[in-house]
Amino acid sequence: MRTEQALPVRLADYRPPDWLVETIELDVSLDPKATRVRAALQIKPNPKAEAPAPLMLDGDGLTLVALKLDGEPLAAGQYAATPDSLTIAQPPQKPFRLEIETVVDPSANTRLMGLYRSGATYCTQCEAEGFRRITFFPDRPDVMAVYTTRIEADQADAPVLLANGNLVASGEVPGSGRHFAVWHDPFPKPSYLFALVGGKLGFVEDRFRTRSGREVVLRIYVEPGKEDRCFYAMDALKRAMRWDEEAFGREYDLDIFMIVAVSDFNMGAMENKGLNVFNDKYVLASPATATDADFAHIEAIVAHEYFHNWTGNRITCRDWFQLCLKEGLTVFRDQEFSADQRSRPVERISDVRGLRAHQFVEDAGPLAHPVRPALYHEINNFYTATVYEKGAEVVRMLEVLLGPENFRKGMDLYFARHDGEAATVDEFVRCFADAAGADLAQFMLWYSQAGTPEVVAVGSYDAGAKVYRLDLAQTIPPTPGQPAKEPMVIPLGLGLVGRDGRDLPLRVADGRKIEHGVLALTKPAETFVFTDIGEAPVPSLNRGFSAPIKLVANLTADQLTFLAARDPDPFNRWQAVQTLATRLLVDNVAALRSGAAPRRDPGLLDALGAILADGTLEPAFVALALTLPGEADIAREIGRDIDPDAIFSARAALRAAVGEHLAAEFAERYRRLTDTRPYRPDAENAGRRALRNVCLDLLVAARRPNAIALAAGQYQSADNMTDRMAALSTLSLCGVPERAAALDDFYARYGDDPLIVDKWLGLQASIPESATLDRVKALTAHPAFSMANPNRVRALIGTFAMANQTQFNRADGGGYDFIVECVRALDPKNPQVAARLIAALKSWRVLEPTRRALAEAALRRVAGEASLSRDTGDIVQRALAES
Ligand SMILES: [Zn+2]
Repeated sequence: MRTEQALPVRLADYRPPDWLVETIELDVSLDPKATRVRAALQIKPNPKAEAPAPLMLDGDGLTLVALKLDGEPLAAGQYAATPDSLTIAQPPQKPFRLEIETVVDPSANTRLMGLYRSGATYCTQCEAEGFRRITFFPDRPDVMAVYTTRIEADQADAPVLLANGNLVASGEVPGSGRHFAVWHDPFPKPSYLFALVGGKLGFVEDRFRTRSGREVVLRIYVEPGKEDRCFYAMDALKRAMRWDEEAFGREYDLDIFMIVAVSDFNMGAMENKGLNVFNDKYVLASPATATDADFAHIEAIVAHEYFHNWTGNRITCRDWFQLCLKEGLTVFRDQEFSADQRSRPVERISDVRGLRAHQFVEDAGPLAHPVRPALYHEINNFYTATVYEKGAEVVRMLEVLLGPENFRKGMDLYFARHDGEAATVDEFVRCFADAAGADLAQFMLWYSQAGTPEVVAVGSYDAGAKVYRLDLAQTIPPTPGQPAKEPMVIPLGLGLVGRDGRDLPLRVADGRKIEHGVLALTKPAETFVFTDIGEAPVPSLNRGFSAPIKLVANLTADQLTFLAARDPDPFNRWQAVQTLATRLLVDNVAALRSGAAPRRDPGLLDALGAILADGTLEPAFVALALTLPGEADIAREIGRDIDPDAIFSARAALRAAVGEHLAAEFAERYRRLTDTRPYRPDAENAGRRALRNVCLDLLVAARRPNAIALAAGQYQSADNMTDRMAALSTLSLCGVPERAAALDDFYARYGDDPLIVDKWLGLQASIPESATLDRVKALTAHPAFSMANPNRVRALIGTFAMANQTQFNRADGGGYDFIVECVRALDPKNPQVAARLIAALKSWRVLEPTRRALAEAALRRVAGEASLSRDTGDIVQRALAES
């Protein structure tokens, strides 16, 4: 464990590596306690570096067994080895071969970084800095080498042996009960993309013919017996491979593509070249075990990891500051894939909801950082919503600003210019500037400035002059280390909607262009004057969420109701309902806290009724429109002095009012959406189930007795996990007496399936009532729970901390105390998971005074721990820092 306060790593200090590694031959002899790793590195001086330089290799907790240079053992004085580094002060200033032997203990590796065991399976996770836990190496992404990996293992313990690339040899080791496999990856890659797997695994196999006619074998490896739960992941993989050829011209390049599902995994999945390793949660699915949301996640994550083959692997990051280069871009690509496979508006709304729930909150608090940070203490803490989701929004803005054709030209140029390289964000954006002939200097601020820009829009209509005037002003709030900001380029999708629901033609008085319905705000304040506007229009701004901003527009309730019903842009129809609901909820939270009567808004109820009645809308969209802003959304809108109990009460009251007002319509729609056909996971059917379950949920929210019986009946009779889980969730969160029996029944049915038990744990952790804390504490002792498994920890403790606003933020501080205890227990074993958990306290400063003091005290207790991992220490230091 590390206890030192590490020095920060700064982008400004980047230097090219002194030494390059051309090839690495690994010989890994797997053993549960003592795996021997022999690495032979062909090293040469980097012509771009200043010679002569010592050779410094990274390690992390390694034991050096032997070391040879060009075949000769090195004398003691010629090198210095510690667990964390290997230095040769005076290496030859010419190419040489370095042979390193280390021994590692995969069974003792609880951090799940480097080589570890998930159950009895050997597997690796090397991003960001895990390879240095296997052997000494220049463990930085700009050192790209060709890997040949020989794995040897006991034949009975590990009949399956996998590594990156293509299989080139395999066989028995005579007389030893052991066997081996040799894999060769012809594509140079950084060490973080190395992977190795050994174990008893079953697999399903399929084939894919690329558009140039190459045949690729596709395999998904899982625990034996779970092969029948891979069909959807395999289907998604093939669709992703085809889509990347069509949408981006990218073809797969090895003879085989493999996915391995493991149950102990810190992240969602990892894009190792040719050998993706997945959290099994994002592979295994069947109608009886997975919800529609699970299917959609599997599709998106399988595609995401596959798309990395070009955006991440073929072109990788020069350094970890460029993480968004691969992640933001690849999230954008997987969002586009899902939009094409499913419904574009529904996908966009879901993505924006996620962005606001996670990234906007991060951007507004002490952990705010730019999409490309300039400094870090622990890179593991920068796998954030800002790097991923805001990073994707920045790529999307390039497409919005330049148009789809120029965007594709820029992507093509990027692939052509940088294939095989470790690139930077600047190089990526330069491709778009060059391809489109555009000046993107100001655009780069999206990568360097943190904080969510706020745009205030004030529109006014002059009937006499037939002129519509739009005044826009932008501000970017201060964030840690960035007190003052420059104005950004903000692309605003815009329509002026006429009475008949059609967009009026846009002509700007001064001749400025509105290209593809988008105007670009580039100054602190600008005015756009539209001429020949024959009627008072309703402005529809930031269509499709064209920029990741907070928009404040002077729209009346009537104008919002009009947009909810008539806006040609589906995203803004949804947004109009959200804005109406948010305004009401914010008012009612204030009313509740001051003892005043809450406001009723018949206009909102009618707008929801109109959307429900609109037969032209797809059910998935209607379901999203009927889903009120979450408690965290309301808290974000209020912004300070947050009382989670008042927010919960205001929202529950509105849900009940909606359920009451539209009870007959919900009951009727529920009945009509009842489906007797066999379950299919496609988007259309998933949308119908989503709407049906929203109807049920709102009926139960109004405490309709027949609705509670309906939910209990649906729970029992459902033939798929989506409907069963939805009914259980509705019953549980509403706290009706039927809950206990249903929860017991659920565990009795699925207790032996860990992924389904996670749903059961998560549901109980999210119940908004005071008994939940004790229930969650008791569940940590349940035989189905384990602190050593990240999925279990996230399901129970993570859900409690992130998704149960009232109980995590209990006024007595019990929720915070519990999280502190969990972090104390976890930190020495798995710092990454511990650091994620303590980050749940990041918004402590916006709480009302009592809770704020309790949350701060909790953070200070963690900060005062005698020995704390660098991961957790970094989060608490930043969370507590005066900004
Ligand atoms: Zn990724």
